[in-house]
Amino acid sequence: MSETEMSDTNALCPRCAHGAIEHIFDSPVPGVWEVLQCGRCLYMWRTSEPARRTRRDAYPAEFMMTPEDIGTAPEVPAVPPLRTSAARTAAG
Ligand SMILES: [Zn+2]
Repeated sequence: MSETEMSDTNALCPRCAHGAIEHIFDSPVPGVWEVLQCGRCLYMWRTSEPARRTRRDAYPAEFMMTPEDIGTAPEVPAVPPLRTSAARTAAG
């Protein structure tokens, strides 16, 4: 519960309904928006995007994923983190 403390309005992943949502970025002006990412299907969204992209109950059903979908999805290469001055910390 340490990384999701800033947002309680998007508790579930819109795509797969997973509950472990990671906080990725904040807006340059604090409090305007956040970028969040699902810990399971890696769907990423910004909180200021339309409800169809940010809310499970408004997300298009044809794009929703189930755990079975994720388990059978082909492997894709991981995308390294973006290089930004704010994120350039010696993590790990
Ligand atoms: Zn997800």
